[in-house]
Amino acid sequence: MNPEPGPPAPVDFIRAIVDDDLAKGTHHGRVATRFPPEPNGYLHIGHAKSICLNFGVAEERHGICNLRFDDTNPAKEDVEYVDSIKEDVRWLGFTWSAELYASDYFERLYQFAVTLITRDLAYVDSLNADEIRAHRGTLTEPGRNSPYRDRPIAESLDLFARMRAGEFPDGAHVLRAKIDMASPNINMRDPALYRIRHASHHRTGDAWCIYPMYDYAHPLSDAIEKITHSICTLEFEDHRPLYDWLVDNLIEGDKPHQYEFARLNLNYTVMSKRKLLQLVQQGHVADWNDPRMPTISGLRRRGYTPESIRDFCARIGVAKKENVIDVAQLEHSIREDLNKRAPRVMAVLRPLKVVLTNYPERQVEEVDVINNPEDPNAGTRKVPFSRVLYIERDDFMEEPPKKFFRLSPGKEVRLRCAYFITCTDVLKDAAGHIVELRCTYDPATRGGDSPDGRKVKATLHWVSAAHAVPVEVRLYDRLFSVEDPENAPDGKSFLDHMNPKSLEVLRACQAEPSLAGAAIAARFQFERLGYFCVDPDSRPGALVFNRTVSLRDTWARIAQQQR
Ligand code: ATP
Ligand code: MG
Repeated sequence: MNPEPGPPAPVDFIRAIVDDDLAKGTHHGRVATRFPPEPNGYLHIGHAKSICLNFGVAEERHGICNLRFDDTNPAKEDVEYVDSIKEDVRWLGFTWSAELYASDYFERLYQFAVTLITRDLAYVDSLNADEIRAHRGTLTEPGRNSPYRDRPIAESLDLFARMRAGEFPDGAHVLRAKIDMASPNINMRDPALYRIRHASHHRTGDAWCIYPMYDYAHPLSDAIEKITHSICTLEFEDHRPLYDWLVDNLIEGDKPHQYEFARLNLNYTVMSKRKLLQLVQQGHVADWNDPRMPTISGLRRRGYTPESIRDFCARIGVAKKENVIDVAQLEHSIREDLNKRAPRVMAVLRPLKVVLTNYPERQVEEVDVINNPEDPNAGTRKVPFSRVLYIERDDFMEEPPKKFFRLSPGKEVRLRCAYFITCTDVLKDAAGHIVELRCTYDPATRGGDSPDGRKVKATLHWVSAAHAVPVEVRLYDRLFSVEDPENAPDGKSFLDHMNPKSLEVLRACQAEPSLAGAAIAARFQFERLGYFCVDPDSRPGALVFNRTVSLRDTWARIAQQQR
């Protein structure tokens, strides 16, 4: 199916800068961006914003965009994450110009560091971590120089070589830039460039026992790749002077520039990889791709389409001011996409048996049901109809309040695309629970219209009991019950605010027979209920459906109220 293209991305301030640079011929008319994940977790919807921006800008402006793994911290990184990141970027619909790793630059980064030492722009400091912290000063007080700051260049060169050779334990020395301990910007107070870590790296193995700091590796990796616009989130704004200092001191010719935008914040979820890892490791969710997770793999399993995620990213836009996006807006994007393309089917989540007492015992007929009213080409299908049916338990009330228009004793409703039925009897078990309804049907209403113009106020979905396929349905709700679980007002941990009802499993659902052969990941609208997709846990004869999103569009309602 070829989805319609989403709304064109408006020209945000990043795109305006790129266009301006192109008009002026800056960077020799080139546009090169990169998406630089650290392979220490799975990508989430926040990353999707950065992916859409970096790949989008490059695509639209005929530039290139690299996928660069920022793998400078061996302790937390893993190939599992590398593989998942590639899968997720690809699934979102983007193609990288090159797959690159900061670790491939370790030798060049080391040589850059040697150059800095040689030019008296870096030194080996032998203070320990606590002492370095004590010398750093505060926001209001300047820092103090390390006693090792003025050690001879030759001594720093020798120590740095021996750090690399593995002569020292972790923490014995660090390489620091020699900038300004009195700078009002703490990032410029002789920041660490290299530290000793005797740890195996997922790509370089034991070749290195010193590893570059992110703030050092990132700008130089950009420069090595000839990135023109290095786009990152706002928290790096204060790091830009260091970015420029490194690039200005080490790079000849065209230099990359860093631009910062506001990260995506979404309510009712957490987005830090550390917290997502905690949810997985402590078993609060099944895995990174649990359909309740805000990860790309979780959203995919939940039934989100790549188009809906790209549409969401285009709608929220790119700006410099922090804000929190309502998760209802994400739900709006998937609803809109699935409304256009998901075939409609009937499935009953909580079945209540209905026997049509005046319908011939062994008769089965096939009624024509429209596949998708939004898509004239989708056609119709045949759905079997017979004497014993299931309807939704919620669609019946023995003693209905005034505004309940669905089925109740003596009331008439329409069964979708089939007949009008009237409830005549309610059968109960010994405990008084309703187990079955007896109804009559009106043969003159076949197809769902009455020849005498009689009106009914409700149309119910249904399945024929003898033909239905039993399925499991998993209903998901928000993972957290408060809007901002990371900053819960009572000072509790985000884990204290998990929604205990975020997953409800219904094991006795009944679906129309056309669903019997549904493929993993296939998406449907269950009429009147919502959008559902086939979960990979499904087995032949034992399908499992995830509810992607319900039909009710709270976001549209809110937007309408605000209008
Ligand atoms: P952590 O959660 O560990 O702080 P991170 O989410 O920043 O890490 P990275 O792998 O460093 O993870 O992120 C890769 C890129 O995605 C970076 O350029 C980062 O700025 C961007 N990014 C991360 N989170 C968001 C977000 N919520 N919104 C927009 N961009 C994001
Ligand atoms: Mg980061």
